[in-house]
Formats: sequence, structure tokens, C-alpha cells
Amino acid sequence: MSYQVLARKWRPKSFETLVGQEHVVRALTHALATGRLHHAWLFTGTRGVGKTTISRILAKALNCEAGVSATPCGQCDACRAIDADRFPDYVEMDAASNRGVDDMAALLDRAVYAPVAGRYKVYMIDEVHMLTGHAFNAMLKTLEEPPEHVKFILATTDPQKIPVTVLSRCLQFNLKQMPQGQIVEHLARVLEAEATPFEAGALRHLAHAAAGSMRDALSLLDQAIAHGAGRVLEEQVTHMLGTVGDDHLYAILDALAASDADALLAVADGMEMRSLSFDAALQALATLLGRVALVQFAPAAVADEHERARLSAQAGRFDAEYLQLAYQIAIHGRDELALAPDEYTGFTMSLLRLLAFRPEQPTASSAAPGGGGTGGKARVLPVQPMAGGKPAAVAPAPKAEAPKAIAAMTKPTAVHGGDVPPWEALPPEAEMQVSDAPPDMPKKRVSAENPGAAQAAAGAQRKPAAQSEPVAATADGAAVAAAFACADWREVVRALGLSGLTRELAQHCEWIGYGDGDLRLRLSDIYRHLLELDAAMPARIEGELGRALGHPLKLHIETGAIAGQTPAQRDESERRARHAQAMAALKSDPFVLELIERFDASLNEDTVKLL
Ligand SMILES: [Zn+2]
Repeated sequence: MSYQVLARKWRPKSFETLVGQEHVVRALTHALATGRLHHAWLFTGTRGVGKTTISRILAKALNCEAGVSATPCGQCDACRAIDADRFPDYVEMDAASNRGVDDMAALLDRAVYAPVAGRYKVYMIDEVHMLTGHAFNAMLKTLEEPPEHVKFILATTDPQKIPVTVLSRCLQFNLKQMPQGQIVEHLARVLEAEATPFEAGALRHLAHAAAGSMRDALSLLDQAIAHGAGRVLEEQVTHMLGTVGDDHLYAILDALAASDADALLAVADGMEMRSLSFDAALQALATLLGRVALVQFAPAAVADEHERARLSAQAGRFDAEYLQLAYQIAIHGRDELALAPDEYTGFTMSLLRLLAFRPEQPTASSAAPGGGGTGGKARVLPVQPMAGGKPAAVAPAPKAEAPKAIAAMTKPTAVHGGDVPPWEALPPEAEMQVSDAPPDMPKKRVSAENPGAAQAAAGAQRKPAAQSEPVAATADGAAVAAAFACADWREVVRALGLSGLTRELAQHCEWIGYGDGDLRLRLSDIYRHLLELDAAMPARIEGELGRALGHPLKLHIETGAIAGQTPAQRDESERRARHAQAMAALKSDPFVLELIERFDASLNEDTVKLL
């Protein structure tokens, strides 16, 4: 027996085996069970979502020799003939190729005669929007007074183009695109039944490429089986699709979490060796970053359990803000590929930019499971103060690349230096401070910065922020205590040096009051989901605070509307003010003015980045 393509072999033959479209099946089943049958149905939806499949099942339901029901037997002559596409009373017509009035007239002429073999004549007209106006009119006449024995099933990918006179006579169903998870499940079932070995990751790539079409997914699966000589392996599938395997993408995230430029470049080199598309890689990376961000805010939105677990591990390693930025870098990186000297250079510059913009994290903190600290080189991005309102965009390349020690702590007793925004840049001496970890704390690593990353940062784009590294507990304890005494929550958060989601949570809280060892904070309502992401975060803040202040306290976080300003809100309003200031400075900058005058240039305000 010759090989039958999977899409055909696995076309569902009954409503029970149909994947997806439950709402349509329910309505049709009910209509068939109660005998309330329309004369015309209209199925809308993109290609490959099951319009023809449902039409065939419906034709069987109407013509099965066992009687009209939602569960045609599948065994009688009528059922088998319809499945085999040789039933005289079931006509499938593609309006894209038979669109003229003649074809339609011929079809409708035959409609008046009684069925030859079945109970009903069923006409399935696919891509019905392609019919000409005359053909529509001819059909409309029949639709207005249809013979009892005639049923029309119209299908279209473009319902807008169907005259309302036709629409109004049809019962309309909108078929949905198949969710990726459903496609993966179905492909897995097919492969199990076919006794074909497969890797789950491969199916996710196929489902993604199929973009909601089960038919396309099955066709791609056919190709994948041929490609993999009887097996469906992730590596072969990604190669076949020209997509970049998840492993590469996760390796990029790992390298970013570890601030490891060498590891990043190794990923790029590995991809080049295998001739993977850098454009596709940036696209896939943007998708992945988007998924990680999604998991931070709405974990339930990711249906696939395996994927959610993998994403959640990443979600704990990156700030929400950084993910937004990284996403931007990835999508803009694609644009820039065309301008790059070559794709490899363009791609690696995007990677280095991702690294350069990565806020330095106290990597060993619990918010960064498996995060940096273990493999990464620490970077020091020298601070570039905006001198005299001069925009940072024309500042000279950083020179002060002094070696610097960091002591990443593994014990919770560590108090880390907070992020220092560039506009509050410390003098170089402050940046350079080298601190020894207390003897009872393991000193994880002491390393010089990575010049590559710093140069990339200087050359490609400006760094968003230079961070102070984790420093000895006493220095920050004093800062925390001072800020705490002033009830300045933003300074407290900054001095505490929290990282990841814990920092995010603290940033969206406002100070309500402190007394009798009780600190009360209010979390903005719209960020209450942060508490659900990791219930241990308040305790972490409480512990860090207690240690920094030298006495325990009890933290209470309530949720509600913010009365004053959270640190995040203050940061944002300051950023806006600085942006306005930078714009004003830029607009009066002689060099910029000359550019504008000589080249009729205009300033693209969105591209002005503050550093
Ligand atoms: Zn039957």
C-alpha cells in the first residue's frame, strides 16, 4: 500500500475525533440531535483549521444509512463513499477555481433533482468569497427557497467579501485557529499511533511553524519524518524549518544571566558553524523574551507545562524592565542585520548590546536560581555622568575600565549595593571601591571586567546604568539605616541591593509607616500579581532589611491604590524629566544644529536614550 500523507490519513472522520472547534461541534451536534437543520452553514476561519473536515462529517451525519445523527456510523456505503470522496450527492467545489456564473448555474440546476444515493444533496463551496457577483446571485435564488433535500456548506477565509444577502441566510460559525498546545498533543498522538519515535521539543517547533493550522502541522510532520529518516528529532526539525533550537536561545539567556560574554559569543559561533539563520534567531529570541515576560506577569497564559516550567526558571533571573529592553534590542537587531557588515557581526552586536544593557545583579541571590555568579565575568560599566546637560549620546567612550572586585554573596547576610543610576553617578573613587567579604562569607569571585562587553557597550549603544557592585554589609547598612530613618523607601530599596522580582516588588511599594517594629508598605494594586509569583519575596525583603538595620522588624504589605509615589513611579517621572532636559540640550547642541541645517536632518526623539 502506498504511503498516505498524514494529513489525509489522520483527517478526523467523526465529531468525537475532531481536535478543537468544540463550540462548532456542540452547536452542530445539538442541531442534528434535535432535527433543527439549517439549509446553509457558513464556516469562516483561516486555512487548515478544519472547514472541509467538518463539512465531510456533517455530510455523513446527514446521509448515514443508520439515520441522521451527530454520530454517523462510518461503516455504511454512504459514510464510506463520503470518506473516499465518491458520494454522488456530496459535491465539494472550490470557488477559487470554479467561480463563474456558468459553474454555479450548472451546480444549481442539478440541485433541484432528488438525491441519487442519499437523503440530502450536500454542496460544499470552499473559498465562497471568490464567486463572482452573478454567481452569488444565482446561489442566492436557491438559498432563498431551497429544495428540502439540499444543504449548502459554505466556507471562506474572508467573510468580509461575502454579500450580506448571502450571509443573512446562513448559520455562521467562526472556526478558531488551533492553539499550539493542542497541535502538539495531536501530533504526539499521531506519532505514537504510527510508532514513530519523536522528541517533544521537535513537535513544539512544528506546531509553532504551522501557525494554527492542523493541516500544515501534519504536512510539516510528514516532511520531518522524511528528513529524520523515520524519527522526529528537535535538531533535525529546527534545521528543516531553518529555525533556531530552544537550546541556543536558552544558552543566550544563561549567558546573559551570568553576564558571560564568552558564552554569548560561543552561541553565535555555534550557530554560524551550523549555518543557522541569525535573523530567525533574533526573531525567536524576541519571542522567547516575550514569553519570559509573559510568565512573570501571567504564568497561566502559558498553557504548556513543560514550557512554563522552563520559562519560570528564566523569569526569576531577569527584571521585568530588562526584559522589555531586551525584547526591543532583539527586534531592532533584526532591522539592523540588513545594515550590518555581515549577519554574524550584526547578530553578535545585538548579543553584546543585550549584555551591555543588563543591570549588574547580585547574582547569587535567591532570586536568581542557577543564575550568574557561577560562570560569569563581572562587567564594570564605567559611569558617564551627563556633564553640564550635555547629552550622553555624544559623550566620549569610557576609559576608566579599572579592575574591580566584587564579592557575590551566597549567604543571606549579604547586603548588596543597589543599582546606581547613571544620573547619580558616583565619583570614580566610589566606583572603584574594593571590598573584602567578611571572613565568614565565601568570596565567590574576584574578576576584572570584560573589555569586550564594555567596548561593545560604548560602541554600539550607551549603557543604561552602571551599577555598584555588592559591597560590604556595613557600608550599605548605614545607607539603609539613614534612608530608613527618613522614611525614604526608594533609597532604602536602592541601598538594600535587592535583585530580580524581589526588587521589582519593593519598587512598586510605597511606605506607609513604621512603628513598634512593624513596617507597613502598600503594593500598588496593579502589581499584586507579583506576590503570587513568589510568596517568599516579602520575607526576603524583611530579612534583608532586618540584617541591614541590625534589628529584626516585621514587614506588612497591603495592596491598594498608591497615595504618594512608589520608587518605580519616582524613577519614571525623573526619567521623563531627564529625557526632556536631554532633548532640550540636544536641540541647542551646535553639532546637532549643524546637522539639521546642513543635511535637513530631523531629530528622532524616540531614539534619544538616557544613560
Ligand atoms: Zn453511516
